Amino acid sequence: MRSKDKIAYFYDGDVGNVYFGPSHPMKPHRLCMTHHLVLSYELHNKMEIYRPHKAYPVELAQFHSADYVEFLNRITPDTQALFANEMVKYNLGEDCPVFENLFEFCQIYAGGTIDAARRLNNQLCDIAINWAGGLHHAKKCEASGFCYVNDLVLGILELLKHHARVLYIDIDVHHGDGVEEAFYFTDRVMTVSFHKYGDMFFPGTGDLKDVGEREGKFYAINVPLKDGIDDNSFYRLFKMVIMKVVETYQPGAIVLQCGADSLAGDRLGCFNLSIDGHAACVRLVKNLNLPLLVTGGGGYTKENVARCWTVETGVLLDAELPDEIPENEYIKYFAPGYSLKIPSGPMENLNSRSYLNSIRQQVHENLRSIQHSPSVQLQEVPPDFYIPDFDEDELNPDERVDRHTKDKQIQRDDEYYAGDNDNDHIMDDA
Ligand SMILES: [Zn+2]
Repeated sequence: MRSKDKIAYFYDGDVGNVYFGPSHPMKPHRLCMTHHLVLSYELHNKMEIYRPHKAYPVELAQFHSADYVEFLNRITPDTQALFANEMVKYNLGEDCPVFENLFEFCQIYAGGTIDAARRLNNQLCDIAINWAGGLHHAKKCEASGFCYVNDLVLGILELLKHHARVLYIDIDVHHGDGVEEAFYFTDRVMTVSFHKYGDMFFPGTGDLKDVGEREGKFYAINVPLKDGIDDNSFYRLFKMVIMKVVETYQPGAIVLQCGADSLAGDRLGCFNLSIDGHAACVRLVKNLNLPLLVTGGGGYTKENVARCWTVETGVLLDAELPDEIPENEYIKYFAPGYSLKIPSGPMENLNSRSYLNSIRQQVHENLRSIQHSPSVQLQEVPPDFYIPDFDEDELNPDERVDRHTKDKQIQRDDEYYAGDNDNDHIMDDA
């Protein structure tokens, strides 16, 4: 095990201020709640906190089509009625509404994941966290499932500049379809998604038999599950699959999407994981000791999302967190118990032992077809795609972040190569 991991954490308070609409289940405010809970446990003293750069349109177009990026940049709530055809073409409107500051929201969460990947690439940290990221449904030319820009794909593309093979793991209750699709034909990324499948559950893809095609055949793994899966069943299967995958594939870096809608009691989910069960998966991946990029994802019971990602920040930092939630700006959301952990619920597990066994066997069989790691050799590593110019705007981080992180939060790409000169704030934890 590494003696002490160096953790970079990305947050911009502006990301929590956008509003999808009154009846929309996606509440970006959960990101503010998470951040304040992280601060209340004083976890900011154990990691480096950065405000991410806002991803440039040209960076988003590394995956997305230029016309789609341009449209996202241009459309506003006031003008959307004038672009009815484009709204349909880009799947905007219902699940993916156009709201005030939509594009900036995308730039921030994508910028966080891209910055996280770049810091990992330059070995400035061992683990990078961006809870605002993880929007795994977005497609090259369209929005999907509350996701507009696929930051995970952009982060993986960045990691591929330095790593021959990248492993993507997704524990959101929904299938990680956008990421799988982006890398379906390549063996340089293995995608592994654990999700609810069947009963017309969104997005409807992620069957066990979907394993990738052409060069990518057997480099996509789907673990389709039924309602009510509990900690024991989930973790046992997760451990078996991930250990076998890592042994077989030998990735150079891992991206872990920690969607919290797989928790018990989620407004949209149907699994029965406790926070401990969810976090156990994060711990297992951390203990693989590979460069690790961790993102958020779904999660629609927002006080539980904040709890979950705070606990997982603690897991990544090897920090023990007392169960009683400390005073913080959003303490009222955690009433009446004010406890950090949530247990499983009284839900029937529809995943029988034999069903889970059959999944395990099939995954093993598919992995056997790979036998050993692919012969992808590292070629000349291209430079990071874009080094932005100095921008005054980014020197004015929002007040709340500023109070806690002072001047450490601004990290520019052009500093990545100058060595790390802000070690003074890293506390040695016991
Ligand atoms: Zn989800």
